[in-house]
Amino acid sequence: MHECSMYPDDQALDLLYDAIEEKRQPSWPEMKFHLQAQDTSLPGWAAIQELIEAAVNDQRKVFAPKKDLGPELWSQVLTLPPSIKNLKHVEKLDLYGSSLVRIPPEIGAMENLRQFIPYTSYGLHWFPYEITRCHHLRSSTVSTRALYGNYKLRQPFPVLTPVIAELAPARCSVCDGQIDPANFEQVWISLGMATDVLPLLVNACSSACVNVLPQSPEGYVLGPHKGGAKVLQPLPD
Ligand SMILES: [Zn+2]
Repeated sequence: MHECSMYPDDQALDLLYDAIEEKRQPSWPEMKFHLQAQDTSLPGWAAIQELIEAAVNDQRKVFAPKKDLGPELWSQVLTLPPSIKNLKHVEKLDLYGSSLVRIPPEIGAMENLRQFIPYTSYGLHWFPYEITRCHHLRSSTVSTRALYGNYKLRQPFPVLTPVIAELAPARCSVCDGQIDPANFEQVWISLGMATDVLPLLVNACSSACVNVLPQSPEGYVLGPHKGGAKVLQPLPD
């Protein structure tokens, strides 16, 4: 299991079962973001960039880095490079068994993405809202237990006050307008994406953009929120 997994599963489950028995919200500790920076001097980082270039050149429809890089180089990749925006022809993104701790907002430019497979990527607890731009996305295979707010564990969302400046992209997640790094809004929203309900991080240029976010599905925190252990989630099933 990835070291950034905040709770060993057993400990999380104990907290949860106690809470269900006593019909109360589990008393989670506050969650912290995994903000590990990518070590760009590692050979794995150079290798993933080259692999993306190769995939752009040969227009392959399946992008599966573990198979091409091998487990050792793939384990050095904590985030995907922004150049994934050039993988416009890729239909299947297979991130099986990754050490990823975040996916960059540029995934939103993968306009032909149909299948998204971050399965057994236990460091991926959330996804960028920009993934909602992948209009063809129909199938996902996510390790749902790792997700913030997932109905199985109801892990709390990390708090977003103050905003996490390291995670602010240059452009608004909603309207694609310029973001003012000194004045922008950061919220969580849970939305049905392909096969799963995913916790999405929104970086919005304005409260107007937060106000137009779609409705969350039943059984999840309704609407956008700022996270933190005090956000009330429905009790786990
Ligand atoms: Zn906006």
